[in-house]
Amino acid sequence: MRIPIVAGNWKMNMCSADSVALARSIRQELTDPGGVEVVVCPVSTVLNAVSDALDDSSISVSGQNCYHAENGAFTGELSPQMLHDAGCTWTILGHSERRHIFGETNALLNQKIKFALSSGLNVMFCIGETLEERESGTMNDVLQQQIGEGLAELNENAMEHVVIAYEPVWAIGTGLTATSEQAEEAHAFVRSVVQDKFSGTVAESLRIQYGGSVKPDNTVELMSQPNVDGALVGGASLDAESFVAIVRAAQS
Ligand code: PEP
Repeated sequence: MRIPIVAGNWKMNMCSADSVALARSIRQELTDPGGVEVVVCPVSTVLNAVSDALDDSSISVSGQNCYHAENGAFTGELSPQMLHDAGCTWTILGHSERRHIFGETNALLNQKIKFALSSGLNVMFCIGETLEERESGTMNDVLQQQIGEGLAELNENAMEHVVIAYEPVWAIGTGLTATSEQAEEAHAFVRSVVQDKFSGTVAESLRIQYGGSVKPDNTVELMSQPNVDGALVGGASLDAESFVAIVRAAQS
């Protein structure tokens, strides 16, 4: 039995007042998350304030990215230790915006994932194909490579702290959502790749989130697929009402 996980990726949105207000509203509405693990991912400057607002609640806080060193001459970067210090138990790594806008490669992500895990963070590792890759029939190769290279040298124990977020790039922030059949097909493939790379036990317990224009009205359909174990939500997570509605849909 995999515990569903719904995370809100706030991206580069909101300063402290709005972030804290949103965190408080979510907390107020979700006194009982009903068996769903809930995570919010604010911008780094407000992590402390949001962590304080969610203190003693069942909602966890995540970074959106982190570097693979504890400290040093890495201007502009944040370490897993700094995320911990700001109240985070999770980090996103490999979001398509990091891959496509900031040029992050599978090899770099592998270093980041290994370091974040060895520093005690849980990782939401994002993978996904572009529209061009889907249409040219290379989608499965792309996903396989992202998993193979991104999760290289991890052992089975480390995988207990990894969630994979399947996010087709063409569905992120576009309003286009993968159909539940497309999502299920990709998630089943991801699980089979993880089974081949690790083991049946790891594959069976791995949680795979879907991300890409998730909204309250498409969550039930997506989450009813056997291999869809949660959602990574961008735009719709910036509004307490819609994010809470997505969590409630995941509960059902
Ligand atoms: C995301 O940021 O991971 C995402 C899926 O965004 P959106 O829900 O806005 O498509």
